[in-house]
Amino acid sequence: MLPIKKIIIPELLTKETVRALLSFHPSPFKNHEGILYWGGYDFNDTVIVATCVVPKATSGPQEVHTTPEANAEVISYLNKHGMTLIAQVHSHPKDLKRHSAGDDKFTFMPYDGYFSVVVPFYARKAMSPLTMCGFHMYHRGKFHVMPDNWTMQNVKMIPGYVDLRGNKNGLTHFK
Ligand SMILES: [Zn+2]
Repeated sequence: MLPIKKIIIPELLTKETVRALLSFHPSPFKNHEGILYWGGYDFNDTVIVATCVVPKATSGPQEVHTTPEANAEVISYLNKHGMTLIAQVHSHPKDLKRHSAGDDKFTFMPYDGYFSVVVPFYARKAMSPLTMCGFHMYHRGKFHVMPDNWTMQNVKMIPGYVDLRGNKNGLTHFK
């Protein structure tokens, strides 16, 4: 049995995630896979994503690699800000949202409850709904692909802004 683990991510950070992945493309017409890490706070059964960290990486149409040195920089950055590593996120071509054969290897220091997220279509279709992405949980030596209904129940996107005043355009009029 996999452990209970919920992921909470502010909507804004899903946008930053897509922005980071798109930044790996050499041009609007050429695609490269991209990579970043989610850092934040781990409360055992709930993790809260608080930041996106883009590592130094080399990318290509079918691959993206980081070095141990680049990964060490990610960890040291997160430590400096009192956060831990929650997930690795990388993009894939087409609708491929599962790990490729090599993906289980390039992930660094996975621990039980660590996540790997694959964003398909090189992130060009963004990542909403979240079920279009592939969530993988590391547990007892390997990554497990999480089914879409797991993602629906356990990954919560929190709006960054809401206006409860009910004004049509959100403007306050002073008279
Ligand atoms: Zn991959």
